[in-house]
Amino acid sequence: MKRTWLLALLLVSGLSAASHPELNDEELRFISANSEFTLLHEMGHLLISELKLPVLGREEDAADQLGFMGLFLLYERQRDADFYAKLVDVADYWRLEWQRPKQPGEEVPAWDSHGLDEQRFYNIACLAYGSDPKQLEWIIEATGLPEERAFYCPEEYQQAHHAVTWLIRHFRKPQDQPVRHRIQVIYEAPSDSVENGAQMLASIKATGELEAVAAKASHDFDLPRDVTLRMTSCGSPDAWYNAISGELTLCYERLSYFRELARQLPALRRQQLERP
Ligand SMILES: [Zn+2]
Repeated sequence: MKRTWLLALLLVSGLSAASHPELNDEELRFISANSEFTLLHEMGHLLISELKLPVLGREEDAADQLGFMGLFLLYERQRDADFYAKLVDVADYWRLEWQRPKQPGEEVPAWDSHGLDEQRFYNIACLAYGSDPKQLEWIIEATGLPEERAFYCPEEYQQAHHAVTWLIRHFRKPQDQPVRHRIQVIYEAPSDSVENGAQMLASIKATGELEAVAAKASHDFDLPRDVTLRMTSCGSPDAWYNAISGELTLCYERLSYFRELARQLPALRRQQLERP
């Protein structure tokens, strides 16, 4: 997956510094990192389902790992300080979810197919630190990852890396084999309740990058049928892959929601620093 994704997804969020002067660099990075991770997590579900990938453990955890490792593939040639800050942004999204006050019934129940927000935070923080423990010791402090877990994180990262390398080796379509099936991108107009919806849609379409991502995935893997990537309003900040209809849905509201949460980052990070 190509570097063009990065800019693409920043624009997918409908957010460029010029069009949103109220957002600072840190907020923009948080929004783009989490938009990318959301898309890659759902692409993980798509690949698991369409390619019938073997999955041990919970599929939601596997999709998080695929999404996380997808970021590494995405930034292959550009793993700079900004990239590692993005990984912490993704972890911090789960920390914000975990720590924000919830309405009754809003908590993820223990029986849910997803890990608890708190666990997803520590899982991502662990993989991030484990990806380069010599250089990234600061992530332990920045996230408050306990030593007991941190000790095994390099192994956890290696395991995820090994799985993804295996997957690519076994499932990549030979370059000379024609593309049989594609991922079709469909944009629906955002509903009036989505803040700056029209602008968001225009920015996404103008880049043509969702199409590029879809084309790349159908070029790299021999999908068994045509599937769809749909941008739409859902009434909630959601994203999912429907394995029956073969449709990946990204909600405009999810991107708006990242923008909302980005404003709480400074307080969250101050709190972390002030911990004894
Ligand atoms: Zn999922």
